[in-house]
Amino acid sequence: MKKTITVLIVISFLLLCSCQKTAKKTFFALDTVVEIKTYGEMPDGAEEYVKELEKVFSKTDTKSELYLQNEKEESTPSKLLYGLIKRSLDISADTKGAFDITSGALTGLWDEAAEKGALPDAESINACKENCGYEKVRTENGSVYKPKDLKFDLGAVAKGYIAELTVKKLQSLGVSSGFASFGGSIAVIGDKPDGSGYKIGVRSPDGDGVIGYTVIRHGIVSTSGDYERYFEYGGKRYHHIIDTATGMPSQSGVRSCTVISDDGTVSDALSTALFVNPSLLDELYGKYDFEAVLITENKTVITTANAEFVITAKDYSPADR
Ligand code: ADP
Ligand code: MG
Repeated sequence: MKKTITVLIVISFLLLCSCQKTAKKTFFALDTVVEIKTYGEMPDGAEEYVKELEKVFSKTDTKSELYLQNEKEESTPSKLLYGLIKRSLDISADTKGAFDITSGALTGLWDEAAEKGALPDAESINACKENCGYEKVRTENGSVYKPKDLKFDLGAVAKGYIAELTVKKLQSLGVSSGFASFGGSIAVIGDKPDGSGYKIGVRSPDGDGVIGYTVIRHGIVSTSGDYERYFEYGGKRYHHIIDTATGMPSQSGVRSCTVISDDGTVSDALSTALFVNPSLLDELYGKYDFEAVLITENKTVITTANAEFVITAKDYSPADR
C-alpha cells in the first residue's frame, strides 16, 4: 500500500521590495524535507546543527540516543533528551494522554501496518496498549525509569522543538529574518525586511488549496492532519495519529489542527493532542500560551480568541462556540 505524505501548511516568502538578497537551503532530516530560508546570507552550520539534533531525537535511526535509550529500563540521558522527555511527560498528563510520548509500541505497530498495507489484529493492538502510558514512567535527578517494553515516541513533538532550536541557532549566527520548515512545523524569525509578517496558509484536507491563513511575526506553527501520512485498506483511510485510548487512528471529527506558540514543544505537542481530543481546547488554552485553528469534517473552523485566522475557502465557515 502507498504511504502518502503531503505538506499541511504553506508559507509565503515573497517580499514586496525585491532589493534584499535571500538564501535557501533544503535537505532531508527527521523523516521530512527541511527547508531553511533567510533574508541575507545563509550562515554555515545550520544543516549540521539539525543533523546533530536528529542523532539525539530520531525514532528510526537505530543509533540515535532515543533509540538506544528506549531499550533500557533505567537510563541517564543527555540533558537535551532528558529535558524533552520530562516536558513531554508533563504535557502528556495535562492532555490526559491525547498526546502521549509513551505511545511507541502502538505507533510502531501502526507504522508496520502502513508498511505492509494490512491492519493489525485486535490482540496485537491490546498487547501494545498495555505497553503505553505516561503514568508508568518516573523521572528523577536526570534519570528515567520505565518498563522495558514501553517505548518513547517523540515524533509528535521533536520537530516543533527542533524548529525552535534551529531558529535560535540561526539568530545567534546573525540571521534576523527568515524561517525554518520541518514538514508539519514551521518556525519564523522576526518580520520580513519590509516590516510585514509571514503569511501561513492551512491546506485543505481535500485538495491542494488552502482553507485560510494567518500572519505571524514570531513563533512556531505546527499542524497535525489526517491527510498527512496515511494508508488505505478496504477503501478506508488509516492515518498516523493514534488515540491511545482506542489503539486506533483517532476519529475525533477534526481533519487538521494548527497550533501557534513561541514554544515549539507546546505548538507541536498540542497540535497532536487537540487533533485527538478537541474537547480539551478551552482547558489547555487556560494553561498554555498558544493560539489554535481546528478544521473539522463538517467544514467548520474552530479558532481560539486571538488566532486571527482568515477563512478564504468558500465552503468553510466559523464554528458556533
Ligand atoms: P507530524 O507527522 O507532522 O509530526 P504529529 O506532530 O501529529 O504530526 O506527530 C505524529 C507522529 O507522532 C506519528 O507519526 C507518531 O510517531 C507519533 N504519534 C502518533 N499518535 C500519537 C499520540 N497520540 N501521542 C504522541 N505521539 C503520537
Ligand atoms: Mg505534533
